[in-house]
Amino acid sequence: MTLADAYRRTLDSIAAAAESAGRQQSDVRLLLATKTVQPDRLREAALAGARLFGENRVQEALPKIEPLLDCDIEWHMIGHLQTNKVRDALRFASCIHSVDRESLVLALQKECLRLGRTCDVLVEVNTSGEANKHGIAPDDVGRLLDAIAATPELRLRGFMTIGAHSDDEGTVRACFASLRRISERATAEGRVTGGPPVLSMGMSGDLAWAIAEGSTLVRVGSAIFGQRE
Ligand SMILES: *Cc1c(COP(=O)(O)O)cnc(C)c1O
Repeated sequence: MTLADAYRRTLDSIAAAAESAGRQQSDVRLLLATKTVQPDRLREAALAGARLFGENRVQEALPKIEPLLDCDIEWHMIGHLQTNKVRDALRFASCIHSVDRESLVLALQKECLRLGRTCDVLVEVNTSGEANKHGIAPDDVGRLLDAIAATPELRLRGFMTIGAHSDDEGTVRACFASLRRISERATAEGRVTGGPPVLSMGMSGDLAWAIAEGSTLVRVGSAIFGQRE
């Protein structure tokens, strides 16, 4: 299967999942998770129609941006972000999916002030409680939202999570449902800006469950680019 075929198949899966959930396909964006994938393959994906790319590590991302400058690509930062990498992250990312602590909010604010710009952010929540996952605990989200609300340079656009590492539908969907409830509460409190909240959830293995629970953005790597080393 070519990369373009895999890309179209993923779009078909998104459409099918949206339809069974009674939702519009256009309400779910596809972000390509591009870690370990080289620029020539990313160009192929862009030619197939992909527009939204997400990188995990700034050191890996920066050298991949330049050779693709002629492509119409929007880059997001989807991986854990160290405060000392914020400057480099803002060089390429229009949205940071992994805001999970106040020190990162402060570091982003400082850099945005220096650059005279704002930044779209998602709060990453550890909905599974798995120890090896990043993200803020659901109970601590409120305090982090207060910090973001006090930071006009950051625009809270929504929330991100990674589903539990499990094949059990109920277990995985509970994570996504938890993120949706957190987002609904924050939206009712008027904390989300710039349009309907973004719910960044669902990957190659669980995107249908995430869409059933309200995902508006799925992050897909291996289903399009193949298994990573
Ligand atoms: C790698 C990665 C993905 C994509 O995972 P696949 O299972 O390859 O689709 C999504 N989100 C994040 C944060 C990732 O690191």
